[in-house]
Amino acid sequence: MIIDAKLTKEIASIVGEDNCSTSVADLYTYGFDSSIHHHTPDMVVRPKATSEVSRLVKLASREGIPIVPRGGGTGLCGSAVPIMGGMVMDLTRMNLIKEIRLNDLYCVVQAGVVYDRLNEALAPHKFFFPPSPGSGEACTIGGMVATNASGMRAVKYGATRDYVLGLEVVLADGSVIHVGTNTIKNSSGYQLERFFVGSEGTLGIITEVTLKVAPKPKKAAMVLAAFDRLEDAGSCVSNLISIPLIPSATELMDDICIRAVNKAVKAGLPEVQAVCMIEVDGDPEIVAKELKVVEDVARKSGASTVQISDDSKQMARWTNARKSVMSALSRLGDDLVSVSLADDMAVPISRIPEAVVAFHRIADENHVIVGTYGHAADGNLHTKMLLNPCSEDSWKRGERAVGQIFDAVIQLGGTVTGEHGVGMSKAPYMKKERPDAWGTMLLLKQAMDPKNILNPGKMMQWEGGIIRDLRYPCRDLISK
Ligand SMILES: Cc1cc2nc3c(=O)[nH]c(=O)nc-3n(C[C@H](O)[C@H](O)[C@H](O)COP(=O)(O)OP(=O)(O)OC[C@H]3O[C@@H](n4cnc5c(N)ncnc54)[C@H](O)[C@@H]3O)c2cc1C
Repeated sequence: MIIDAKLTKEIASIVGEDNCSTSVADLYTYGFDSSIHHHTPDMVVRPKATSEVSRLVKLASREGIPIVPRGGGTGLCGSAVPIMGGMVMDLTRMNLIKEIRLNDLYCVVQAGVVYDRLNEALAPHKFFFPPSPGSGEACTIGGMVATNASGMRAVKYGATRDYVLGLEVVLADGSVIHVGTNTIKNSSGYQLERFFVGSEGTLGIITEVTLKVAPKPKKAAMVLAAFDRLEDAGSCVSNLISIPLIPSATELMDDICIRAVNKAVKAGLPEVQAVCMIEVDGDPEIVAKELKVVEDVARKSGASTVQISDDSKQMARWTNARKSVMSALSRLGDDLVSVSLADDMAVPISRIPEAVVAFHRIADENHVIVGTYGHAADGNLHTKMLLNPCSEDSWKRGERAVGQIFDAVIQLGGTVTGEHGVGMSKAPYMKKERPDAWGTMLLLKQAMDPKNILNPGKMMQWEGGIIRDLRYPCRDLISK
């Protein structure tokens, strides 16, 4: 036990007894995020202020206790799983929206503010924070910065990194620093705010974020195009972009995903090889013009049917169908669960048709069911595998398919993760993708965290394969 009774008392004196726990239920629960992994921590702490975070980190540094910062726990690659035990630091009590300054185009929030709550606060002012991850109702701004989250609208509006103006961060020795500025422009030295974007809790604990905000578009409308060939749906996306027409969202779903959402949530999507949901937004006249262009490009790219809607209820139905893919896939087969492995690759946009065809071929060769969907117009594709979590053979076939999918992506000039991050599930493949960069990342980690207490064992520090520390009750049946 690395946290004894004396330390527990000291920790309780910082956050209060109600905000530190070693109960079996809390330790078990905080051993998960939304990935395939699980590992039980030694304690859960819930600080309310930066000063508490700082004191906890000083204590952890003194005692050599690992700390894993955690937002909503919606991460899909195990980045918030406390693989070396220690403290999980739940930041969701730090949930104040401290300032909204629209005449300066920014807001200041604590790290534990949930994405949707921030947008609810911005909406009456006709502004928004655009990245729009599918997990928006639960993920936190701190978690989004730490993973550089993005979503359906990245092609037009960018990812979280494009909105981070400044950060307050608690470093590994407990000191508090402020990086970046409250200005839209800043050339004042190293852009350290960017350094923490995508750092997954390994370089510092983000306590406060200054975010640029954007005006909300006046109108949006959608096209649902159905294709009899998956690669035509992929081509439609790059044909559109090269016009140029930058849609506000482009969601591609293959036949497996379509079948899953039609079965699970009665989505009523056409049962074809692939659909593309393409959204355009802006002033009403521009939206009307762009809709015509999208319809034309979809038909020329081989769409068999094209439906158009600016009705908010219909658009919400289509969007919700897309958002249900992950959970719907798990209901396709009795013994199968949908697992997040090789789940958010990104390739150059023009390589999407090749990528989707390769994913299907790899799935067939390994006898694994793989649903492919994604944001497509920004080159970001998700695959979800259906595996039997109690079958070693199923995991082995899955792992082989993961390796081949990542190899294909790297060969196409892409990246193994476009938005979810590296954590545990993608760590060996990140090293493969970045053979000349991960050593430098490791040096930076060592310089920032010499005692290796901040989310240790992740990303560049990961060793071995990925089918380990599984979350499933039958995990002891799996030999790795
Ligand atoms: C249904 C579903 C849909 C999703 N859709 C998307 C999507 O469209 N786009 C997308 O990008 N992701 C998506 N995700 C993944 C996930 O929601 C994002 O990675 C999100 O940014 C994680 O935020 P979180 O607050 O839950 O972070 P957590 O999962 O709690 O943590 C993620 C990482 O950030 C670190 N971290 C958290 N808070 C801090 C902090 N304050 N300081 C330092 N490090 C911190 C953690 O240590 C961990 O390494 C989805 C997940 C689910 C379950």
